[in-house]
Parts: sequence; structure tokens; C-alpha cells
Amino acid sequence: MKIAVAIDGPAAAGKSTVAKKVAEIKGYTYIDTGAMYRAFTWYCLQKGVDCQDEKACCDLIPEVNIELRPDRVVLCNGIDVSKPIRESLVSSNVSYIASYKDIRLFLVEQQRKMAEKDSVIMDGRDIGTYVLPNAEVKIYQIASVETRAIRRYEENIGKGMECTLEEIEEDVRRRDYIDSHRDFAPLKPAPDSVLLDTSFMNVDEVVAAVIEIIDKKLAEKENA
Ligand code: C5P
Repeated sequence: MKIAVAIDGPAAAGKSTVAKKVAEIKGYTYIDTGAMYRAFTWYCLQKGVDCQDEKACCDLIPEVNIELRPDRVVLCNGIDVSKPIRESLVSSNVSYIASYKDIRLFLVEQQRKMAEKDSVIMDGRDIGTYVLPNAEVKIYQIASVETRAIRRYEENIGKGMECTLEEIEEDVRRRDYIDSHRDFAPLKPAPDSVLLDTSFMNVDEVVAAVIEIIDKKLAEKENA
């Protein structure tokens, strides 16, 4: 049975870590929609365009081609941007780019196409509410802002990136604010989503909880 699992939630809630593991275990295709907004942001910065200038950023749409490869490499116009899209300059600008309706419509169209063929687990901010409103499983994954900042800080340090915990916490708070206050497809839980607070859970526990939610939903569907 082909299914779609939507995982939404605030920044650094561990969505992608969990979604990748669940995808491997269940044989689903993992789609990191945040990487697409990040790649678009990277391109604007490369072009020297001000990310707060909506028109200038939207004018770049026809020249941007973003590809998520099955090996998780992110390509922007054929260039491997998997690493630079995680840098702090991209993180601090991405929420502006993601607030522009035309850019969202451009990327959402591709996200929906990706979900047409295979079973997918897609993470983002608006997957259950806007991109895949008919997803069989919708999860809204949260954790306290302090927990999320510490997790992201440790992840970045582990990757050899330079950052401070204060910077990360400020970035997370700011992105959450912009993401949840934008007009078009803001961050919010879908009414039919399952809330998963991971503040006091480790990754394996969250993965197990997500799989339990998926299996329960699938069993309900089969018995309906
Ligand atoms: O998931 P990640 O934190 O990498 O996403 C980066 C940014 O992309 C978010 O802070 C948000 O502004 C934007 N985003 C979005 N909608 C999505 C996925 C990400 O607005 N579906």
C-alpha cells in the first residue's frame, strides 16, 4: 500500500534525523523539503541578492533547478550544495525566502510530484496542512526550544562547524517566529496530526514512537 507520512514541526526538532531512520526501516522515500528552501536561499546569496527583497528573490525562480538525489545529495543547478546549505548564513536567511508565496508554490509543486510515485516520509513546516493534506499519517514533532538548540549545537559541532549555543538558540527562535507568522502556509499543526513531544526522548525512542503511530494508522485504515 502506497502511503505518505508528513512530519512537521519547529526548527531543529529532530524531524529529519527521525524521518531518515523511519524511511530506511519502512522502505519509504525520504524528502527533506527544508533542504529545498535552503538551496533556493543559497542561490540567492550566491547571486548577491538581498534575501529580504521578495521581488528580486522571486525573479530568480526560472533559473533555479533543485534536485534531491536518493543518496541525499542536494543539487542546485547541478552543484552539490549539501554542505553549504547548512551554514549559518543560509540558516539565518532561509525563513525570509520561505515566506514568499511564489517560491513556495514553485517548490511545493515539485514536492507533490515527488510524493506521487512512491511511499514517502516528508518533513517540513506545511506538509500536513498544505503540501499533502491527504497524507495518511501526520505527525507534529516538538521539543522545548532549549532542547532543540542543544541538539542542533551538538550536531553542528559534530560536523566541525563553528557556532555558539546562544547563536543557535537565537536562530531557532527567530525562524520559528517567522515560519509561524507568515501569511501563506505558516507553521502550525494540522488538526488531524498526532502531537509528539520529544523533549525527553532519545532518537531511538522517537523512531519507535513514529513507527507505532504509522502502524496504528495503517491498521485502522485496513480495518475501515
Ligand atoms: O527543515 P529546515 O529547518 O532545514 O528548514 C529550513 C527552513 O525552511 C525553515 O526554517 C522554514 O523557514 C523553511 N521551510 C518551510 N517549509 C517547509 C520546510 C522548510 O517554510 N516545508
